Formats: sequence, C-alpha cells, structure tokens
Amino acid sequence: MPSKEKNVDYEVYGVDSIDSDKFDRQKRISGWDQYKISNATVMVIGVGATGNEVVKNLVLTGIGKIIIIDYDFINMSNLNRCVLFSRQSAQNKEYKVDVVKDACEVLNPDTEIIAVKKDLNDIDKDLYKKSDVICSCLDNVEARLQANNYAYFYGVPFVDSGIEEFFGSIQSVYSKEKDAACLQCSISNSDLDLMWKKFSCTGQEIQSEKGETVAKIATIITTTSIIGGLQSQQVLKFILGIDYYKEHGEWNSSIGKPLIGKQLNYNGLLNKFRVVEKLKNPECWTCSYERKDNIN
Ligand SMILES: [Zn+2]
Repeated sequence: MPSKEKNVDYEVYGVDSIDSDKFDRQKRISGWDQYKISNATVMVIGVGATGNEVVKNLVLTGIGKIIIIDYDFINMSNLNRCVLFSRQSAQNKEYKVDVVKDACEVLNPDTEIIAVKKDLNDIDKDLYKKSDVICSCLDNVEARLQANNYAYFYGVPFVDSGIEEFFGSIQSVYSKEKDAACLQCSISNSDLDLMWKKFSCTGQEIQSEKGETVAKIATIITTTSIIGGLQSQQVLKFILGIDYYKEHGEWNSSIGKPLIGKQLNYNGLLNKFRVVEKLKNPECWTCSYERKDNIN
C-alpha cells in the first residue's frame, strides 16, 4: 500500500482513538466488558512466584481492586521467578505484599492494591465476602483448603493453582454449581491426618536429603508463568461471565465456561495439557452437606 494511502487511513481512524486507550486491544475481544473488569475486586492469596504472575496479569488487565495476602518477606531465592521483586527488595528482606503493591503502582496506578500482611488464619473474613473472585497461589494444602472452604460458603468463585518442576494444574470452584467438586472433595482422610505437615502443590511430602520435611518446591518461572496465565484467565472468565450465568443459568459462549469442578493439568515434559473431571465426594464436609453456618 502506498504510504500516502496509509496516512489517509490513520487520519480516518484517528491515531488517538486506536492507541490512546490502554485497554483498546482487549476491548476488541467479543464479550469483553471493561466496566466489569474495572469494577471487580479479586483476592490473591500468596504473592510468591505464581502470585506475582497472577497479580501482574490482573493489574495490566485493569482490575479495579486487588487484595493481596502474604506475611512472608522476599529472599534471594525468589528472584528467579518473581517479575515484581528486585535484588534490593531481597537484600532488604522487604515484605512481598509491600513490594508487589509498589510495583503495581508503576504498572497501572488505576488499580487499587490492598496489601494484607497476615497469615490467612488471621485475616478479616469479610475480605472473602468483598471479593468477586478468590485466587489461591499457595504452597501448602491446609491454607488452600481453608480458602476453598470460605469461598464456597460465601458463594465466591475460587481458582486454585499448583506447580512443581515442569508440571502444574489449575482448578475452579463455584458453589452455585451444586454438582461440581470442590477442592476439599479430593482430600482423603489420610490427607487430613497429615495436614499439619507441609506438602508440595501436587500433594507430595517434600523431604531433604537428610529425610527432614521441608517446604521448598522445585520450580521455574516458565511453569509458573504458564499456570499463572491460565489462572488469571479463569478469574477474567468469572468476572466477565458470571452475571450472564446468574441470569440465564449457563455461561456466555463468547466468554466460555470456567473450569468448575474440573482440573486442567499441564505436563511440560510431554508438552501436553489435559482436563480431568474431578469427582464430587458425597461425604465432602465442605460441599456435600447443608451447613447451618452456610452464609449463602
Ligand atoms: Zn467438596
């Protein structure tokens, strides 16, 4: 195309109308509603490797408010897979939530970040109710189940992730879909007995060479960014699709159904993704009994 005609095209469309809106390209997606995104509140529990990816994605997408929960500080060993941390933040042993909050201010100052420097057990439970979607990016089963249970009781969509080496998985839970499994459904009684120990995200107990149980997971940013990307996508699908679901009882095809009751597994060794249906446990104490303290 001759350059002269090109210039005419730019004048017709107006450069400003195409490139001055930072959300222009995503607004072009069928079914997208930036207003919903900008007014959504997402809770992200754990802002380590996967949490960094999820928060970064949500902030750049323009989520209105993100509640980040983590009581840990930054170590040098975090730096190979945490895009929002810096060497200085590790040397100063700064708190993860403080550093993530500052980094997000640079990425997109329009997103409000609420930093909660507490153990999950100690947070104000109203934070669950104030969230439109809850994400767990955690490294131990006990905290993930706690988040699953609160999200289920409050009727808030919940997206969990797990990673180890070249493997990862995500799963969504939503109590309005009564027949779908929750995270607790897959936990056996023997798992519950061992709950006080730390586990890897795939449920394997982690041991050092000396046989001591330690809570360190072998992982790499390529895995966490893949899984964090998939997890963020589930969050967006809930935010964009849930009003339609509540009105019509089905998910809008242009946004698609979230992975409710299903687990998406990634195998980086075989270069494969696989979706498996999770079986609902009829004796699951979270999702299979009518509870008097169910706040729904
Ligand atoms: Zn369950």
